[in-house]
Amino acid sequence: MANQASNKVLILGGGLIGLSVAHELAKSGMQIEILSRRRSEAAGFVAAGMLAPHAEGLQEEMLNLGQLSLKQIPAWVDSIEKNSGINCGLKISGIIVPFIHDEEKDSYPTAKFGEHLNRKELIKEIPDIAEQWTSGLLFQQDGQIDNRRSLMRALEKSCVELGVEFQEGVEVMELLHKDQNLGGVKIKNTQGIIENIFSEKAILCSGAWSKQLMESLPIFPVKGQMLSLQAPKNTLKRVIFGPGTYLVPREDGLIIVGATSEPEACFRTGLTPFGQRQIENGINSILPTACGWPPMERWWGFRPSTPDEKPIIGSSSINGLWIATGHYRNGVLLAAITADLIKKCLCNEKLNDEDKELLNNFNYNRFNLPKDNI
Ligand SMILES: Cc1cc2nc3c(=O)[nH]c(=O)nc-3n(C[C@H](O)[C@H](O)[C@H](O)COP(=O)(O)OP(=O)(O)OC[C@H]3O[C@@H](n4cnc5c(N)ncnc54)[C@H](O)[C@@H]3O)c2cc1C
Repeated sequence: MANQASNKVLILGGGLIGLSVAHELAKSGMQIEILSRRRSEAAGFVAAGMLAPHAEGLQEEMLNLGQLSLKQIPAWVDSIEKNSGINCGLKISGIIVPFIHDEEKDSYPTAKFGEHLNRKELIKEIPDIAEQWTSGLLFQQDGQIDNRRSLMRALEKSCVELGVEFQEGVEVMELLHKDQNLGGVKIKNTQGIIENIFSEKAILCSGAWSKQLMESLPIFPVKGQMLSLQAPKNTLKRVIFGPGTYLVPREDGLIIVGATSEPEACFRTGLTPFGQRQIENGINSILPTACGWPPMERWWGFRPSTPDEKPIIGSSSINGLWIATGHYRNGVLLAAITADLIKKCLCNEKLNDEDKELLNNFNYNRFNLPKDNI
C-alpha cells in the first residue's frame, strides 16, 4: 500500500475546518487534495459566524482556546483575503449579552471580561430592547464574520490559488490502514464507482459525520435552524446574544438569527414549524420591533458535537491520520487556531509549551477509547 502512496495530504471533508486546514497547509507548500461529499451541507455555510468566546461564556481550557483563536483571527482573515481577493466581512462589532436579573449577569462565567451595563446603558446600546432586560454585559472584544456569504467562498478560492486540488461530490467510504499506519482512503467517486486513493497522510475533517469514518470518535450532530431578516440599515450595531436566541447584524442590514439546538433530530434534514416558531418567539422576547422586519431566508445544519462539547484536534491512533473535528458551536471561532495547530504538527514544527498543552487538552484520547478500535 505504502509504495503506491502519493505525497499529497488528503483532507477528508471540505467544510469550514477542512478548508481552513487545507489553506494553512498549502501556504506551507504542501500538496493538498480535498475530498468533499457535499459542500452545501457543511455547517460552515450555516453558522451565524459569531466570534464569541466571552459572550458564549466559555470556561477554562475552552475559553483559553477561544481567546487564542480570536487573537489569531485578524491575521488569519488577512491572509485569506489576500489570497482570494474576497472580503470576508470580519467585524469586531462587540457582542451584548442581556439579562433579566442582575445576579445572572454577575455570575456569568466570563463576567469579568465584559463591561457591565445597567438598564439605561443597555437601552443606549439597543434602544428597542424589550422591557424585561434589566442589564447586560458588553464584550467589545467579540465579533463576527460573514461565513455564509464570504468566508467559505474566500477559503475555497484561496485554496485554489494555492494549488489545492478539489474533488467535490466524492464520498470517503473507509480509511485504509495496515498495522496502524495510514495507507489511503476508499472513496465513491462522482460516477458512483468505488476506488482507492493512496496517501500516508490525511486529516479527518468530516464535521458532524466524522464518526462514519472512525467509529470510535464520539461525535454526534446537534441540528440548528436559522433565519435571516432584513432590517433597515444601521439599526443594530452589535450582536445581541440572548438565552437561546441571538441576532447578528451584518454590514448591509441583514440580521442572522439563530438558533435551535436539536440533538434529538439526529441527521433529520429540513425546517420545522416548531423550530421556526422557537426562533420567532426568541426574537419577540428580545427585540419585538424585529418581528416587523421581512424574513429573507431560512436554513438549517448540523453542529459536530462531542460529549464534553470540546473539539478534537491532533494525532489519532493511526499513524498519518490527524483529526480536526467536533467544534460544535464554535467552529468559526476556532478555525484559525485549529488550522495553525494541525499545520504545526504536519510540518513537524517545534511546538512551544502552550501548543503542547492545547494538543494534549484536545486530543481524542481524553475519551479513553480503545486504541485498536477505529
Ligand atoms: C446553526 C448553527 C450556528 C452556528 N453558529 C456558529 C457561530 O456563530 N460561531 C461559531 O464559531 N460556530 C458556529 N457554528 C458551528 C460551526 O458552524 C461548526 O463548528 C463548523 O462549521 C464545523 O466545521 P467542520 O468543517 O468540522 O464541519 P462542516 O462545516 O459541517 O463540514 C464538514 C464537511 O465534511 C463533508 N463530509 C462529511 N463526511 C464526508 C465523507 N465521508 N466524505 C467526504 N466528505 C464528507 C460534508 O459534506 C461537509 O461538507 C454553528 C453551527 C450551526 C449548525
